[in-house]
Amino acid sequence: MRKRIAVIDREKCHPQECGNYLCAKLCPVNRSGVDCIYPADDVGKKARIDELLCTGCQICPGRCPFGAIKIINLPMQLDKPPIYRYGENMFELYSLPAPQFGQVTGILGKNGIGKSTALKILANVIKPNLGKWQNPPEFKEVLTFFRGTEIQKFLDKLQRNEVSLSYKPQQVDLIPKQFSGTVRELLQKVAVLGTSSEAAGKVTEIADTLSLTAFLDNPLQAISGGELQKVAIAAAALKNATLYLFDEPTSYLDIKQRLQVSHFINSLVSDSTAVLLIEHDLIILDYLTDSLNIMYGHEGVYGVVSGIKSSREGINVFLDGYLREENVRFRDYAIKFEAVQDRVRGKPQLLLSWKNLHTTLGHFTLATEEGQLHKNEIIGILGENGIGKTTFIKMLAGLILPDQGTVDREIKVAYKPQYLETSSEQLVAEFLTDAIQRYSHQLITPLGIEALLARKVSQLSGGELQRVAIAKCLSQQAELFLLDEPSAYLDVEQRLIVSKVIKNVAQERDVTVLVVDHDLMFIDHVSDRLIVFTGQPAQSGLLQGPFTMEQGMNLFLKELNITLRRDQSSHRPRINKLGSVKDREQREEGKWYYS
Ligand code: ADP
Ligand code: ADP
Ligand code: MG
Ligand code: MG
Repeated sequence: MRKRIAVIDREKCHPQECGNYLCAKLCPVNRSGVDCIYPADDVGKKARIDELLCTGCQICPGRCPFGAIKIINLPMQLDKPPIYRYGENMFELYSLPAPQFGQVTGILGKNGIGKSTALKILANVIKPNLGKWQNPPEFKEVLTFFRGTEIQKFLDKLQRNEVSLSYKPQQVDLIPKQFSGTVRELLQKVAVLGTSSEAAGKVTEIADTLSLTAFLDNPLQAISGGELQKVAIAAAALKNATLYLFDEPTSYLDIKQRLQVSHFINSLVSDSTAVLLIEHDLIILDYLTDSLNIMYGHEGVYGVVSGIKSSREGINVFLDGYLREENVRFRDYAIKFEAVQDRVRGKPQLLLSWKNLHTTLGHFTLATEEGQLHKNEIIGILGENGIGKTTFIKMLAGLILPDQGTVDREIKVAYKPQYLETSSEQLVAEFLTDAIQRYSHQLITPLGIEALLARKVSQLSGGELQRVAIAKCLSQQAELFLLDEPSAYLDVEQRLIVSKVIKNVAQERDVTVLVVDHDLMFIDHVSDRLIVFTGQPAQSGLLQGPFTMEQGMNLFLKELNITLRRDQSSHRPRINKLGSVKDREQREEGKWYYS
């Protein structure tokens, strides 16, 4: 019986460049004359590891110069075969979440743990192979494997076409590559598949609900990420399914849109339908779901789904890092929120100020009131998409000049753009030379970048590139750091780590950091003060602040028409149910922010 999993990342394994299978040369089993590590038969002849022969000595993962090998001991609880394995020395998934009819169920877990894989299995995109990738089992064998579980009932129904599925994949940016035409044409096509007669009417209706009307006749290739996300959600909803699967439905959306989409997804649930979704924005996950499953394991190696929990309990358990029923500690520290936000500190020292800035870009105008930044503080920036946040950041970075008004003094600025440049063939180690030399402790280690150093920037995933770009920005010698949407592509844990890293940088180097983001919990966690944008997206934006957290949140939340409270045990922010006692009380007291 196998005791461990060996995973080899084919992209990272370069057997010719490490000195001809360094891993095999160092392997004690190989040295004793048995082929534990050997070249595969396929293209590139990448290394393979025999999991039955491997002794778990951990020499090869430590010595592979590309960090291509992971050897992880299997926890004793996992004494069954996996339900799915991608291939030899590849990722394994050990369980599935069960959809709950009449409910919205969430899946919460870090990146690379198999969330999308699990959803693809439920969406019938990939079929369970019980770990036998060479020779996938018949469906009957799979049913027997799940005998007596909710999953068996589900798969059975799926087989008999009693469940109709609709699936919104994680990567919406692939849609324009698969379908050319306008937004309307795509939605019409999907609607016709549902019920032909009223297709046009249905498209108009959903376009109204999700605010798609303004760009309904634009080609898919020409719309923004946020617009594409809403189109993908609309397409999934038009299918008229009994089970809706949404993989990360809020990426690229601003908070107003996240709430809009939450209400919409919620409206898909009835006694005979279920929604299952993956989400990293904890405030939205909490607000939108009734129950959730936590996924844990080892990223890139294996994933397990926890038992179902209420959303509130599930999120608190996730933050704690410990699953009582399973007796599994999946993180060696708990994530904590402070009950009181405003940091107490000495008299603020002025960094810079601006007055009545004004700029016009095409049809868009941005105006500001008077504002000041202090040394050693973190300012969160909130506002809708298309309201001028990036324009303001670029103005501070000196990339856009105001046509009226001035920023009072020139200072040294470091800037992480919203859209990251991916084409560089440089190695991460070269790209981040300064960060490695000066801020290994402050940036490289906490952001988990060590494992990426031997990779090319062009080969990084979205989340990897984001962390590298954050490290690059924060390693510069500057007085003001500008981070435009740093939480994009990151999971909950990474977002909170980034928040901690930013706080450390501000404190230890006595510098100022501006953070634009749409994850309200992240902004709450990281910020000392807030800048709020109001106005009409794509037409005009007005920048107000910086405000204290309370003032800023009041202004922003009032516009969104939601109130926030803190969870009693974890102190994390939660959205109050509209019209609930708390909601009404807070509105009456004028405290939209956690009282
Ligand atoms: P999550 O959605 O939790 O971030 P995924 O389910 O996308 O995770 O992926 C889990 C793991 O499976 C990752 O380490 C990924 O590299 C691996 N993986 C995903 N798709 C494939 C594939 N087609 N072939 C091999 N490995 C894959
Ligand atoms: P945000 O970052 O808040 O989403 P931006 O500052 O990127 O918003 O953009 C604000 C508005 O200005 C958008 O409607 C955008 O299309 C428009 N805009 C931005 N840059 C230009 C430009 N160079 N020319 C014309 N319009 C622009
Ligand atoms: Mg995923
Ligand atoms: Mg922007």
